[in-house]
Amino acid sequence: MQRIVVLAGGIGGARFLRGLKVAAPEAEITVVGNTGDDIHLFGLKVCPDLDTVMYTLGGGINEEQGWGRTGETFAVKEELGAYGVGPQWFGLGDRDFATHIVRTQMISAGYPLSDVTQALCSRWEPGVRLLPMTDDRVETHVLVDDPEGEGRKAVHFQEYWVRMRAGADAHAVVPVGAESAKPAPGVLDAVAHADVVLFPPSNPVVSVGTILAVPGIREAIAEAGVPVVGLSPIVGGAPVRGMADKVLAAVGVETTAAAVARHYGSGMLDGWLVDTADASAVDEVEEAGIRCRAVPLMMTDDEATAAMAREALALAEEVSA
Ligand code: GDP
Ligand code: CA
Repeated sequence: MQRIVVLAGGIGGARFLRGLKVAAPEAEITVVGNTGDDIHLFGLKVCPDLDTVMYTLGGGINEEQGWGRTGETFAVKEELGAYGVGPQWFGLGDRDFATHIVRTQMISAGYPLSDVTQALCSRWEPGVRLLPMTDDRVETHVLVDDPEGEGRKAVHFQEYWVRMRAGADAHAVVPVGAESAKPAPGVLDAVAHADVVLFPPSNPVVSVGTILAVPGIREAIAEAGVPVVGLSPIVGGAPVRGMADKVLAAVGVETTAAAVARHYGSGMLDGWLVDTADASAVDEVEEAGIRCRAVPLMMTDDEATAAMAREALALAEEVSA
């Protein structure tokens, strides 16, 4: 049986995984999820990327939006607002609240996030093994110009992304706590026994980059000797959706498919898929020592996404031959 490990953020990772399950129905898929986006709100622990993967694969996602629950209502949020209790900029719906209540209750009872995630998944049955990158607290912060002063200030990633809509220039992205975090149980083992490691079209800085910032994960992937293949989230010099260009600029990386490949580097990536719109980037990526192909990379539906996953698996086979 083929064992596949995927390092996933939220929407891009989740949608890719849905196609991967179609492309490789017999494979054992382990997803290492980003938890750098996690935030505490109203006393509850919210894990946006883990939940996006869980809801998307479990059939509970709001399809148009790409995150949050289907059939959602917002009575609790409105009631909190009536008390003057914020933040109101983060959209937590009533159904979604239940997930965060269950998670917070289990964490307060002493369970690690990996156990909690497994318990939540026993309801959603995502058809993959979903592991947080770590059970330890890691929070991505973004350094921006202080709108009220001369200097700069660090804000939580969600404040930067959701409240500020990445409107201010980002000068640095820091996964606070990562340096002392340990990979969650099962992560290193899954990598060591993987036949292939995939980077889906997730954010290279605040999703995949954060996972790789947990000491041991990057090294385990490099040492496992398995083919590592990524799919570009940048098409035609722009993110397909979202504001990845802002955080790429913060780490000094151009918003092009080739620059993202070079950012990961040939020490990490064996293969890289770019969209057909970026066919002219193939030579540049190959010159950097990374095997590259141009194929359609738009996840318009499950069949198109499954075709992308097949291309990624074929490239992995090719680089390991
Ligand atoms: P987030 O945590 O919800 O921001 O999600 P991820 O980190 O997993 O993925 C976000 C990235 O997915 C963005 O940079 C998008 O450009 C990329 N993305 C979204 N849809 C597509 C698509 O259809 N094709 C490709 N190639 N990338 C996509
Ligand atoms: Ca995210």
